[in-house]
Amino acid sequence: MDLFDRLKDLREQGLAEIKEAESEKSLNDVRVKLVGKKGDLTQILHQMKDVAPEKRREVGQKVNELRDLFNENLASAKDSLIEKAIEARLEAEKIDVTLPGRRKHVGSKHPIRIIQDDLERFFIGMGYQVVQGPEIESEHYNFEMLNLPKDHPARDMQATFYVDADHLLRSQTSPVQARTMEKHDFDKSDLKMISPGKVYRRDDDDATHSHQFMQMEGLVVGKNISLSDLKGTLELVAKHEFGQDRETRLRPSYFPFTEPSVEMDVSCFECGGKGCAICKNTGWIEVLGAGIVHPNVLSAAGIDPAVYSGFAFGLGLDRFAILKYGIDDIRDFYSDDVRFLQQFRQEED
Ligand SMILES: [Zn+2]
Repeated sequence: MDLFDRLKDLREQGLAEIKEAESEKSLNDVRVKLVGKKGDLTQILHQMKDVAPEKRREVGQKVNELRDLFNENLASAKDSLIEKAIEARLEAEKIDVTLPGRRKHVGSKHPIRIIQDDLERFFIGMGYQVVQGPEIESEHYNFEMLNLPKDHPARDMQATFYVDADHLLRSQTSPVQARTMEKHDFDKSDLKMISPGKVYRRDDDDATHSHQFMQMEGLVVGKNISLSDLKGTLELVAKHEFGQDRETRLRPSYFPFTEPSVEMDVSCFECGGKGCAICKNTGWIEVLGAGIVHPNVLSAAGIDPAVYSGFAFGLGLDRFAILKYGIDDIRDFYSDDVRFLQQFRQEED
């Protein structure tokens, strides 16, 4: 077979191989085989010695033409392979713009927080300040400053969690009152404060008991503060929280830090006082405890009980939320179930 026939065959074969190459790598293999240093065209040039001298130039020309042809086809084949690869990748990573956007879930206020915020605004409107205090308290502030000396039986009523021999998770927010009374300058103004916050008591958790709950206590200390001031204030709270047509009543009670002590009931907002399951057929619902600040509590804070007097009250924010929203299990407040919490979305302001 002479070189011209071989070049003709190589031309057909080479162009077909370039066309068939399906990847950049296999195309490169074809390139090396056709036009590489030891490739087919080079081998043909090596055989020039066998060609008659008058035909060598023509063969040389044909080889160069074929090399150019192969190189052109290799280049365009490479371009189209790259293009195909890009297209395939774009197809694979295609973003479907018809999909709906991802929604951002905005949280809702916890029902206890809703009640707390509302009551804070209510009391701030009446001139009270909102004061926070530590949840790990000393026995001194949690008990002694509140007329609960060591061995006082009422300490057992508030069995709580001790951190060490002298410190505990506070069983009430009253120590915040004690701390604030100590610092307050009564020559300048009366003290009117509320202290909302978490408190702890040892309890077996069930639908109506929780070892932690939210309390809000209030305190007013000044000259000539009386039980009628307390009654008037509590009536405003009850009507604000449970409806303007609620009736209230005070019953005698006992707390170590107040004397006299009372508990307040409101007329049942479910049955209006006729009797139902919520009010246990009494027509009344107990909502908070209160009283006139015990002279020992004032003295402990360095306040002269002969000159100053005050009233205090304490309510459970959990209890208010349970009553207001008809919740039947206190544990729902602390279980972090978003489905439970989202029911109160409408209550936000
Ligand atoms: Zn009722």
